[in-house]
Amino acid sequence: MVKKLSDEFRRLQDFATNQINLLLNFREVISRYPEAEAKNPTSPMELLYLLDEYNREKAFGGYFYLEKPFKSFYGVTKPPEVAELYEIDSITDLFRFEFVKMIEREVRIKKCKNCGRFFVPNHRQDAEYGDRFIGDTGKRCSEVGVMLRYERKVASDPVWEVYKRNCRRQNSRTRAKKMTQTEFLQWSEQAAGKRDECLSGTLPFDDYVAWLEQGRIRKPRNKPNAK
Ligand SMILES: [Zn+2]
Repeated sequence: MVKKLSDEFRRLQDFATNQINLLLNFREVISRYPEAEAKNPTSPMELLYLLDEYNREKAFGGYFYLEKPFKSFYGVTKPPEVAELYEIDSITDLFRFEFVKMIEREVRIKKCKNCGRFFVPNHRQDAEYGDRFIGDTGKRCSEVGVMLRYERKVASDPVWEVYKRNCRRQNSRTRAKKMTQTEFLQWSEQAAGKRDECLSGTLPFDDYVAWLEQGRIRKPRNKPNAK
């Protein structure tokens, strides 16, 4: 009995995961054509129809699915009292109900880029990481995500790369007392400002590099009292 139940749950979990992944894939494909989508947005009903069609063709996991496509939630009933009809007599039906409602209300479920689990963004629609704790580290995916994003940015962009390298250099100069803390803070502020100019294209990359190089050489001459 217990074995049978856990098999059922595993099947439901596979089914739920599969359907959510499918939905995310459809949304991903749709997002590649923003102009078409702006002109003629895909409605929740169309999404459900697409999912049903796909499931009918691929027949995921088996029979129960074919018996109850998502659109059966919108069966013909006696108007005008009842617009929708739900028949829920299993946990799978309950999932289907929640799933359909989620699509209908356009709740955007997402996949966390750190742990790969599903989450619904609370604050920003463009959130890439969920708020779950990572094991017993006491850190959340979203917190680690900020760091990962920074690392990725540094790795992929020469502007960030040269900025970070010089930050490290100036910081060690400060620790070696070749530069005061105040000077370092001033330098940091300018370096970050020019970095953003460089990123937005108003400052050429070579000029930025030249400025960073010069900053290192000229600094000692800027403080004649320090001898
Ligand atoms: Zn996560």
